[in-house]
This record gives sequence, structure tokens and C-alpha cells, in this order.
Amino acid sequence: MKKILVGNWKMNLVSLEAESFFASMPINREITIGIAAPATLLRGLRDHADRLGILLGAQNMHENKAGPYTGEISAAHLLDAGADFVILGHSERRVLFHETNDQVEKKVESAVVEGLSFVLCVGETREQDEEGVGDEVVTHQIRSALSSLTEPNLKGAMVAYEPVWAIGAGQPATADQIEEKHQLIRDELIKLFGEEGKNVPILYGGSVNADNLEEILQIPNVDGALVGGASLDPQTFNEMIEITGESS
Ligand code: PEP
Repeated sequence: MKKILVGNWKMNLVSLEAESFFASMPINREITIGIAAPATLLRGLRDHADRLGILLGAQNMHENKAGPYTGEISAAHLLDAGADFVILGHSERRVLFHETNDQVEKKVESAVVEGLSFVLCVGETREQDEEGVGDEVVTHQIRSALSSLTEPNLKGAMVAYEPVWAIGAGQPATADQIEEKHQLIRDELIKLFGEEGKNVPILYGGSVNADNLEEILQIPNVDGALVGGASLDPQTFNEMIEITGESS
């Protein structure tokens, strides 16, 4: 499997900044690159993404296809705007917008029905880690979010392990912590989907930058990285593309 590098721009960058970012990005076919941009930028970035051969993603969606949900955007809208994938269950959605496992499950189901790939984010909070329930939390998040899926519609599914306490913290989880949780996730995927569970990429996210990426990519069951803050600077992100390419 090619290594994967996904940038999550969150609520940052407007169209001129995004276009100049894409203009500076190198073409690299050795790895899979994705950028999850604000939904308003997707249509304008589609041609650039095609030229670069990268995936374009959104950061959230509503679980229903259409209806009276003022201000919301569905999988159908994201596809229409040019998205290839969507990030689902990001901890900022879970914590700041009180998104539940049930909602995440419905979003996953809706993305799959519409044919939109997804990155499912899972991870424990600092308190859960200290209480010793981190494994339980992550296992439950995986099981509930993927409960509606069967092997054939796993194509396009990715999981990102993002310990909430490591996001934006400047300090990622340790190699041992990452290895342990990625193994747990891999085991759970195999329990759910048999052999096919081996092919679902598992990304690590949480304070990944150009200095620690190489080491993180060497950890067993780490198929790539989901990068927040460090994905906003084109020079840094381009350096991370190079590092990911060299680790492939
Ligand atoms: C994220 O929010 O998905 C993330 C990984 O953020 P950061 O890299 O800034 O920790």
C-alpha cells in the first residue's frame, strides 16, 4: 500500500491562499496525498487536484442526503463540489459540536451509500487515557462507526488514530503508544472484516510535523499521517511529501 499524507486545513485558508498552495505542490505519484479543505474551496481546487493527482476532501458532512437542515452540507453536495473523501468523527466535531458515535455511524453509512471515501477519526481524551479506558473507547468508536459496513464497501475507507490529547499539542504520542493503538485498531478491523481489514489504511494524527514524520511512518501499522497545523504551510507540507515519499 502506498503511504498516505492527508492535510486537514480545518477552518483556514481562503481561495487565493489555497490556489497558491496547490500551485507550489510537487507532483508525487509514489504516495497518496489528500487535502481536506473548507467545503467552499472544493470546486475551485478540483482542477488543481486533478493536475497534481491528489485527493480532495471535506472535513465534515450531514448524515442525511437532503432536507430541512439549514446550514448543513450532505455527501451529495460534497461530491457535487468535487470532493473525493470526507473526514468523519474528528475530535473537534465530537468535542466542540457534541457529535455522537451514533451520528458518526450514520455519516459513515451515508458517505458509503453516496460513494464518497472517508477518513474515520478515533482517539481517546487525556482523561480517558488516565482512567485506563483508552482502548475501550477506541474499540467502541471503531465498532460503532463501521457497524453498517461490509467487506465490499470498505474500499475508500481509512481510519485515523488521533489521540485527542496530542492534537495541536506540539508533542505527538510516543512510538510505543502509537504502535499499541494501531495494532488494536488493526486487530479490530480484522475482527470486523476478516482479511479485508488488513487493507484499510490506518493513519496517525496528532502534532505530526516535518521533524517527527519520518519516525512515525516507520511504526508498524502506520500507513500514513493526518496532519493539521503543519499542513497549512506549503513549504512544510511539501517537505512532508518528500519525507513520506522517501519512507515508502
Ligand atoms: C488534526 O486535527 O487532525 C491534527 C492532526 O492536528 P495537528 O496536526 O495540528 O495536531
